[in-house]
Amino acid sequence: NTFAEIDLGEILNQNIRRCKYVKPTPVQRHAIPIALAGKDLMACAQTGSGKTAAFCFPIISGIMREPYAQRLHVGRTVYPLGLILSPTRELSCQIHDEAKKFSYQTGVKVVVAYGGAPINQQLRELERGVDILVATPGRLVDLLERARVSLQAVRYLALDEADRMLDMGFEPQIRKIVEQMNMPNRGVRQTMLFSATFPREIQRLASDFLSNHIFLAV
Ligand code: AMP
Repeated sequence: NTFAEIDLGEILNQNIRRCKYVKPTPVQRHAIPIALAGKDLMACAQTGSGKTAAFCFPIISGIMREPYAQRLHVGRTVYPLGLILSPTRELSCQIHDEAKKFSYQTGVKVVVAYGGAPINQQLRELERGVDILVATPGRLVDLLERARVSLQAVRYLALDEADRMLDMGFEPQIRKIVEQMNMPNRGVRQTMLFSATFPREIQRLASDFLSNHIFLAV
């Protein structure tokens, strides 16, 4: 019932202490070990449950363990290893802020891209290198169409507040995004889907995007 019991390693445990997290929330306690074991996950989690840390820590930990974790760059196209999709600019920025604290001194670089803001600064930030991209679906489709981001190296995908993304009409964009990862990466990618509710549409996304997943309701 402590973070030390979860095998995140010394650097991440230090970052957890720096965040003043004393013990894992229920979703963290259950989701992190499942994700560290490499399993796909569909988790029922509300805002305030600590879900951000639940998907960020396994992604950061996984990227730290990658034997070939040099940052890929081909021309102006960047190849993130981790992708976190979230419905809004506000949520994306919150995730980015937390993920930066969690990845302190790990060498893992987190960049955010969201719509409703000029793209140029985001492009410059991406060009400086990215391991984990936090993005809203519409802006990410734009970046893919400009060939500034490729998803062919993505090993870790998290969909946060998936029900809200569908309510906002992002399903076509989400499908387009995930399609770009599937072909070279089938069986390699680990996917985590977080949603507050589980209507039929979310279950359909889960059966399309996840393989042999564990369902977690806390
Ligand atoms: P979230 O559900 O991810 O939006 O997290 C809600 C809030 O709880 C954020 O401000 C987190 O920094 C905080 N939080 C997350 N996990 C913990 C924890 N284990 N202990 C204390 N605070 C936490």
